[in-house]
Amino acid sequence: MVETETAMTPKKTYAVGVDMGATTIKSCVVDLNGKILDQLTVDTKASKGPEIVVQQIMVTVQELFTKHKPAECLGIGIGAPGVVNVNTGTVLYPPNFADWTEVALEQVIRKTFPLPVSIENDANCAALAEAKHGAGSDVKDFIFVIWGTGVGGGIILDREIYRGPFGGAGEIGHVSIDYNGPLCNCGNRGCIEAYIGQRYLSARTKEILESEAHEGVRSKIQELVEGNLVRIEPTTISMAAQQGDRTAIEILEEAGDLLGCTLASVINVLDIRTVVVGGGISAAPKFVFDAIHKGVASRVLKPHRLAIRILRATLGNSAGMIGAASLVM
Ligand SMILES: [Zn+2]
Repeated sequence: MVETETAMTPKKTYAVGVDMGATTIKSCVVDLNGKILDQLTVDTKASKGPEIVVQQIMVTVQELFTKHKPAECLGIGIGAPGVVNVNTGTVLYPPNFADWTEVALEQVIRKTFPLPVSIENDANCAALAEAKHGAGSDVKDFIFVIWGTGVGGGIILDREIYRGPFGGAGEIGHVSIDYNGPLCNCGNRGCIEAYIGQRYLSARTKEILESEAHEGVRSKIQELVEGNLVRIEPTTISMAAQQGDRTAIEILEEAGDLLGCTLASVINVLDIRTVVVGGGISAAPKFVFDAIHKGVASRVLKPHRLAIRILRATLGNSAGMIGAASLVM
């Protein structure tokens, strides 16, 4: 009897994860150990409206199913930017997606693929991936920060995503460190994102280089962008720092210190003492992580100071899609 059942029910061996970004849609097949077996990336037609984007997701998933048996699939997980209502499977107003108000993405996908479907905020997906298969796999609780274009976050409590009663927990990027500080995209002032998010950090670097140029100092950063300071990206600063450029090191040390200041407040509130830092900056030199650690340690309450750990995320750009797949595992 048992044997017949086993023969009839195919073993579930993998899940599909989709990372719906404003620039690219990344989809993959992930085995039960979090290993990527297959993946596809397409440029997101985010300006064409939700119907086209949803269609793109369907097509990529369909393509993965041509090589992997749908009967062996546990389900489809999708990570989306912005606000996601996980109860209704709805994606609301994702930033940088044109004409997108509220889309019941889970329902639409399930209509085409009769499999379990789960939708989650993209930063939460990346946090979950690090919790299950990455830097946070040996800790029960940690604060996750994605430092890249913006500053995103997630909270892992007892190995699960902590969403809060209204679903919006973990917005670490909008912790303000100065109520008179620079204006943030969200309308508040002094949010950490308004200091170290890609656009702000690049602008600040440009400013510093221009004032240094007056003093006759020339930074490696200028060489890397061939004098065109508009082209400065955090990776440029990081590369210059790796080559020993003093200005670049100072800028990243300051940014690390500011993030440390933010995290000290978060740690004071939550008393979760492990932080996993992901996003583009997770490839930055060690001194940036040391600066974050120092920034936390010098400001957090004394009783919270022991056992503070700042870890580098290990899954890189794949964290979002691996985490999405983990939603249905
Ligand atoms: Zn903000």
